[in-house]
Amino acid sequence: MAVNAGSSSLKFQLLEMPSEKLITSGIVERIGMSKSVFMIKVDGEKNEEILDIPNHGDAVNLLLNKLIEHNIISSFDEIAGVGHRVVHGGDQISKSVVLDDAKIKYLEEIIDLAPLHLGPNLTGIKAFKEVLPNVNHVGVFDTAFHQTMPEESYLYAVPYDWYTKYKVRKYGFHGTSHKYITQRYAEMMNKDVKDVNIIIAHIGNGASICAVKNGRSIDTSMGFTPLEGIPMGTRSGNIDPAVVEYMANVKKKPVKEILNILNKQSGYLGVSDISSDSRDLVSAAEKGNHQAALAIAIQSKRIADYIASYHNYVGGAEAIIFTAGIGENAKPTRADIGGRLETIGVKIDEERNDTRGVEQLISTDDSKIAVYVIPTNEEVMIARDTLALL
Ligand code: ADP
Repeated sequence: MAVNAGSSSLKFQLLEMPSEKLITSGIVERIGMSKSVFMIKVDGEKNEEILDIPNHGDAVNLLLNKLIEHNIISSFDEIAGVGHRVVHGGDQISKSVVLDDAKIKYLEEIIDLAPLHLGPNLTGIKAFKEVLPNVNHVGVFDTAFHQTMPEESYLYAVPYDWYTKYKVRKYGFHGTSHKYITQRYAEMMNKDVKDVNIIIAHIGNGASICAVKNGRSIDTSMGFTPLEGIPMGTRSGNIDPAVVEYMANVKKKPVKEILNILNKQSGYLGVSDISSDSRDLVSAAEKGNHQAALAIAIQSKRIADYIASYHNYVGGAEAIIFTAGIGENAKPTRADIGGRLETIGVKIDEERNDTRGVEQLISTDDSKIAVYVIPTNEEVMIARDTLALL
């Protein structure tokens, strides 16, 4: 079972391994609030119930009992392992690990690095461990794939003891997705992962670019937190940090609130004043809305800037891969970014780019760098790592 636990939600997928066949998926939402929602797919149909689910432990119990009730499993023993998506592994965790007591203690020690996500992740892990004490629980970390970055990529040019004493450095996120794409690309090209030099644009609600050299992450656009890098659905991406103090002064608000605006009310939403959803912006822009078009253009420009710079850093990328909600579906955005990369020899093929949600080459045959859409699959990656550690 692949699990992603948030503060009030719990997403799950049950996969048959090693065939990677999806058996069922679902989500528990509004945990600890009134009218919690439990949704599970049974034979492909959504089955939704409104219930009271006071905490994560109750959510896990309910979810497992529903699997039996719907005849998806006949006993808990059929679940051989649980893979937990964990947002942060600090600088000690560079691959998926079995979540024993020592690992959980370590995660509790670094909770301040990602308080909003790591706390809920740990709550989910503990709830599952209590209900399924006899199976292996594996942590799959968003930061792990980026632990191969060299110092010159992950260190900020700030006093060195900010790093040594306070762990301030670039960690990078979306690592499970970037790793999946790297492996999938190697498979598609029939080559060893060690020979893969690519740039991955994971553009969803959250978005990050990754430079992959010899199959390893050597730089990525997200940083100490997911706020760094390119503008996203509601995140600003890079800004001059001096703006934070300036806006705190003029708005007479604490720094914390300004950061909250940079995380939750900026990016697509902030610039467009319409929505954080790319579909809304694409359709508003098509109707001539300037701010909607601008929100997309600011993001596309920054993505192209990162790709051009990473092309140099990996020593000449063989391919650029688009993935996640926008990367897989938004063809005008892909075309726009491609158009901004013509000087490094990228040529998008209009017909090939007319695609959505499937693996597809979208560049022309004479494009100097191949461009692909490859749908990501973080759950499969979680299930693979869990199986490997059983
Ligand atoms: P998350 O970071 O939450 O996992 P996703 O990868 O699901 O995000 O991406 C969500 C984004 O993908 C939204 O902005 C959504 O509008 C966009 N998206 C999904 N389908 C389409 C589509 N058909 N056309 C354009 N954008 C799409």
